[in-house]
Amino acid sequence: MTKYHRKHTRYGRIISCFLTFLFLQFTIAGYAQSGKSFKTIVLDAGHGGKDPGARGKFSNEKDITLAVVLKLGKILRDSMPQLKVIFTRNTDVFIDLKERGPIGNRAGGDFFLSVHVNSTAGRRERIQTGTRTVGKGRRKRKVPVYKTIIHRETATSGTETYVLGLTRTGEKERAIGEYGEQVEEEPGLLDKNDPMTAVLVAQYSQAFLGRSVNFAGKVQANYSGTGRNNLGVKQMSLQVLANSTMPGVLTEIGFINNPEEEEYLNTQEGQQNIAMCLYRAIRSYKYEMEKGK
Ligand SMILES: [Zn+2]
Repeated sequence: MTKYHRKHTRYGRIISCFLTFLFLQFTIAGYAQSGKSFKTIVLDAGHGGKDPGARGKFSNEKDITLAVVLKLGKILRDSMPQLKVIFTRNTDVFIDLKERGPIGNRAGGDFFLSVHVNSTAGRRERIQTGTRTVGKGRRKRKVPVYKTIIHRETATSGTETYVLGLTRTGEKERAIGEYGEQVEEEPGLLDKNDPMTAVLVAQYSQAFLGRSVNFAGKVQANYSGTGRNNLGVKQMSLQVLANSTMPGVLTEIGFINNPEEEEYLNTQEGQQNIAMCLYRAIRSYKYEMEKGK
């Protein structure tokens, strides 16, 4: 709210509130109409090209997300040939986060599904490696020498699925975990200082949050059914979701810095299991949407 707005007359305020209300109504009405059909799904493999995403001991996030998304695309083509599948990328290329939503929007997507691999931020530990002597004569004394080591491995395991929401405390740290060593780089969150952010998130939430949460719940239930640890459905102010004009989720399919999960995420069987979980969630969501639920 600017100073100019605060100085508005009462009538001015009423008119501007009314206009905002009309604008939101039209926008939401437009979204709601398109919400009944489910013809096109947008599959977004996280990262790619120069952006490897999170790194494990022997693999990169970008390759796992692409493998899972391609497997899911094949399952959908075989089992639901009437559903149109759009990939934001189907090769190892870099696509800016801001571009991914619009690719789906231009294709008239009905749902945006972004696939990522999780990682925790490295845990820093200061350990004593020895001592050294300082000072001279009677002041001579030994002081400890330390070094900092970063433990990248984690015992944290499981899956979680994000829907778009406003900033929560600590989300930056969590988002950064994904990016491993590239901590200075933009972790893909919305700019909290931009006044449009709150408007964007509020509008998106009104139009799409219910359906996004519904889908996210189905994804998590399916992972759970295959014995994966369920970390739940969560909210984050993710840019990749905010730029799309359709419901959507970002699913984290496991932790690359957990050695057991990295192994699983790199097997054909693990990737196929995850793709099947996503397929089942899509199938039941499509059924519900078309039933008009
Ligand atoms: Zn990622």
